Amino acid sequence: MVFSSPTGRNKQSPFGTSDDRKKGVPTFRLQPKNPPPPSMPSADDLLESAKVVALPMHTRFRGVKVREALIFSGPAGWGEFAPFVEYEDAEAKTWLAAGIEAAYLGPPAPVRDSVRVNATVPAVPAEEVAGLIARYPGVDTVKVKVAEPGQSLADDVERVAAARDLVGTVRIDANGGWSVQQAIEAVAAIGDVEYVEQPCATVEELAQVRRAVSVPIAADESIRRAGDPMRVAALDAADIAVLKVAPLGGMRALVALAERLPMDVVVSSALDTAVGMAAGIGAAAALPDLDRACGLGTGEFFVRDVARSFRIEHGTVRPRRVEPGIDLPLASAERTRWWHERLRRCHDLLTRR
Ligand SMILES: [Mg+2]
Repeated sequence: MVFSSPTGRNKQSPFGTSDDRKKGVPTFRLQPKNPPPPSMPSADDLLESAKVVALPMHTRFRGVKVREALIFSGPAGWGEFAPFVEYEDAEAKTWLAAGIEAAYLGPPAPVRDSVRVNATVPAVPAEEVAGLIARYPGVDTVKVKVAEPGQSLADDVERVAAARDLVGTVRIDANGGWSVQQAIEAVAAIGDVEYVEQPCATVEELAQVRRAVSVPIAADESIRRAGDPMRVAALDAADIAVLKVAPLGGMRALVALAERLPMDVVVSSALDTAVGMAAGIGAAAALPDLDRACGLGTGEFFVRDVARSFRIEHGTVRPRRVEPGIDLPLASAERTRWWHERLRRCHDLLTRR
């Protein structure tokens, strides 16, 4: 059961009005659309099939070496609810909306059958870069993490140089770690890259850096954690928008936002399991315009995923439905309870009038 608009563009999400999405609040109001949208499942519906997994990772990422996620199934497949543990419910609830969309509606109609992806290199020593890139067969674009606390600009320069020796296109991601001045100096030291993602924390700072350097600027946190993702465009703060399904409240919300943003977009995952990754790839496959490699290869970070990982071939991944295995690495009873309660609270926020 897959609901999508006849044009495949899905300007109108069956999960809410465009006004709701403007405010970043996914809702589940019934709309007189054809085919009719499903009603909002209850928290009990979701928890009936829910599994809380704890996936071991090859490399520490965002300070963790185990990624927890709650997955559940619905009539259209599986959905993921895995906001980072430090997120408040008000932010986490959009992740639940995205999971419900995946499980109850499935992806919007695709316009391409494969999506180009980048390799991701965390803040590792330069000598480990080649080994990491080797996990991404055929990629021509690498995203290198920079501005890691406790490391120096020289570390960043070396790591980027090591990546540049191996692939044609390097993009860097500072995760908001620099001041405006540091960003300008770092860009000069690192040299030419496809773009610098989130050099500084605020939209205003991004705009300042963008005016000072010739390298394109990408906005990630400034879109995903902002009350108004359109501010980046209003302040001329970026050339590229990095869009993620779960923080934006779903695949259709992502496609709708991409249509409104006057800039290139890159679809990326947020340390998603194979279930969340399927939604990211589903959204990327449905975008009318997509010219750059997407950050949808991070499944390579997991020692074990919930399902067969998306295989990267010739630098691309293909959209498909994901069926989790039966022998999953489950979280402890205590963590499982914590996730169930979190889901109930977020469900309550989503359905509150
Ligand atoms: Mg980023």
